[in-house]
Amino acid sequence: MTAATDSTLFPPVPDSADAVLEGLDPEQREVATSLHGPVCVLAGAGTGKTRAITHRIAYGVRAGVLPPAGVLAVTFTSRAAGEMRGRLRQLGASGVQARTFHAAALRQLQFFWPRAVGGELPRLLERKVQLVAEAAARCRLRLDRNELRDMTGEIEWSKVTQTVPDDYPAAVAKAGRDAPRDPAEISKVFAAYEQLKRDNSVIDFEDVLLLTVGVLQDRPDIAETVRGQYQHFVVDEYQDVSPLQQRLLELWDGGRESLCVVGDASQTIYSFTGATPDHLLNFRTRHPDATVIKLVRDYRSTPQVVGLANGLLSQARGRAAEHRLELVSQREAGPAPVYTEYADEPTEAEGVAKRARELIDAGRPASEIAVLYRINAQSEIYEQALVDAGVPYQLRGAERFFERAEIREAGVALRGAARFGENDSLLDGAADLPSQVRAVLSGKGWTPEPPAGSGAVRDRWESLAALVRLAEALAEGRAAAGGAPPTLAEFVAELDERANAQHAPTVEGVTLASLHSAKGLEWDAVFLVGLTEGMLPITYAKTDEQVEEERRLLYVGVTRAREHLSLSWSLSRSPGGRPNRRPSRFLDGLRPGSGSPAARTAGGAGGIQRGGRGDFGAGGQGGASGPRARKQRGPAQCRVCGRSLTDPGELKLSRCEGCPSDLDEVLYERLRDWRADQARQLGQPAYCVFTDKTLLAIAEAVPDDAGALARIPGVGRRKLDRYGGDVLALCAGEELGAEEPEDASGPGGPVESGEVAGSPAEDS
Ligand code: ATP
Ligand code: MG
Repeated sequence: MTAATDSTLFPPVPDSADAVLEGLDPEQREVATSLHGPVCVLAGAGTGKTRAITHRIAYGVRAGVLPPAGVLAVTFTSRAAGEMRGRLRQLGASGVQARTFHAAALRQLQFFWPRAVGGELPRLLERKVQLVAEAAARCRLRLDRNELRDMTGEIEWSKVTQTVPDDYPAAVAKAGRDAPRDPAEISKVFAAYEQLKRDNSVIDFEDVLLLTVGVLQDRPDIAETVRGQYQHFVVDEYQDVSPLQQRLLELWDGGRESLCVVGDASQTIYSFTGATPDHLLNFRTRHPDATVIKLVRDYRSTPQVVGLANGLLSQARGRAAEHRLELVSQREAGPAPVYTEYADEPTEAEGVAKRARELIDAGRPASEIAVLYRINAQSEIYEQALVDAGVPYQLRGAERFFERAEIREAGVALRGAARFGENDSLLDGAADLPSQVRAVLSGKGWTPEPPAGSGAVRDRWESLAALVRLAEALAEGRAAAGGAPPTLAEFVAELDERANAQHAPTVEGVTLASLHSAKGLEWDAVFLVGLTEGMLPITYAKTDEQVEEERRLLYVGVTRAREHLSLSWSLSRSPGGRPNRRPSRFLDGLRPGSGSPAARTAGGAGGIQRGGRGDFGAGGQGGASGPRARKQRGPAQCRVCGRSLTDPGELKLSRCEGCPSDLDEVLYERLRDWRADQARQLGQPAYCVFTDKTLLAIAEAVPDDAGALARIPGVGRRKLDRYGGDVLALCAGEELGAEEPEDASGPGGPVESGEVAGSPAEDS
């Protein structure tokens, strides 16, 4: 995976302010050199918005116009913020703060809380859902998982639109919002939730912004101090700013109008959380003197990918669509997007894994491939298929690189070796930085060749290999710039910087990510999967606006691809199931055979493919290790309706996905929290402890002894030995006496939860 701002790891630092402008086109240069007054950049995907604002900051700093410590760059995710800091450093402009709204606000709140309120800032709640369930119970409501998700979504929406519980029903009516249940009921649960938070002395994600706004509004002295620190503001992805974030921005700016915002209304994908592109589209009205710059050259994608993106937007409706800009690709022609229809989901996942394997075998790095889906629950079947195909993968949003146990251990070893320098026997005979790093990491499990198979050993190796590659890139970058070879101490300093920035080196694996979390990123090859009615648009998108947002989500997905783009769907969920699904309506008129001339252009000559089992080459039946071998389990039946099960996800649940679930919500949430703790301690992604499906199955079955637990698919001998005690205790409703979850205000705590911006779609 490549973050879009980071195409070369260590290019030479430009030797002057003017040299920073090289490599920008005329409009991008205009952005970079418009350092005074309000600036608004309206531009489509891949046109270099992020690149332009990063260069603008660097140019301003290098030209001595912007004091580095006086600039606050606000980005949408902490990852993007880390990227930007790294990029600014490479452009010779260190010291600029690049943060999410949430992280910036949290820092200010922590700092000023003792003065503004007294005492310590209350603990930050990591997940709302359990408290929302408790609040609902106080109001004598029992909500299932989906209802809880909806309720939480409404509470979040209210908070970012600064609506108090009593005003919720009126605010919903005014906004024309489709409340998922009786607004009076939601208002009561919301009030109970706020009370519970006060009772427990906790604050939630939105409170961080609300409280910061409150402090800045009520305390002019504190507002002045903050304004004294920051004079210039730059905001990326401004189309997804919420009213609350906008209010905070106004308070920070304090009417000075030293503001540069960039965005693309066609990529608004968080309006369900209260975000709105109106702030972007009305920027000129609010700031009549604003410089408005449009970028239309797409540097990211081939004309084939851009053609499809334009085709998709030409069917869009609504305010964002009125402002759409036709993208013009700057790249050479590439392959036509491939559309594939599969019989069922496992076949689709296998087809995608097989194609990814082929790309890797042909020399494409796995980290340059992504599989993007609508909801996180879709990941599991792709994880399985990639494992079967022997393709390494990483889940976005999983364990952060520098928090992994092996990386922390490697850091200690490297620091030790750097301290002892040439006296360290480990470094005997290792002349340059990469060989020194390889020598030190050999003691930690790194080997020149990857270990066979997948699983924890392989994951550990992949992490260490990423460090080796980083050392190689650092050495190469220096050599290319004609500088002195980097030392081990410099490498350790680089790692520390990156750890602070949470800027993980690219792990060599195919990225699995939701469309929401793929925003701003790019890959050579992108697979957009599960494109059926009901999934995209998702069933709960009912109003026209909600459906349009789903279309924009697909646009975001399409525009992540540099070169290869594959779009697929399957006609039924499981093998042998009724083929009752339809490809997404958004592909009508674009995919070949869907009845419009545009389809022929967008689809190219390739036409539609039919993916099937026969696809798997001459040995399609597979040997013992073939892709199908794992799925040859004995016949299993749904424990609710008795139907035979073949879908791997359903097999884990021991029921059809559509059959009623007898899930114990509270137990499920406790299990998830417990799993997060375990994963943190292990330094591994949560799914290594138990997958979502297995956890769900446990919360449904509520096993009361080891035998019952062992019968749940996904709980093998090893997991039983390791986790059986904890899980059975949780099922029995006992407290584990575990320590409190990591101090929420510590590094890597709530700051990072901005990644998914509380998206209800993300926690399904
Ligand atoms: P998104 O809307 O997806 O956030 P963006 O508008 O922010 O996209 P960038 O991510 O800044 O676009 O740039 C897209 C890609 O194009 C990056 O790989 C970037 O390095 C490259 N790029 C941008 N401008 C230029 C340019 N003038 N010359 C060469 N490459 C460029
Ligand atoms: Mg961008």
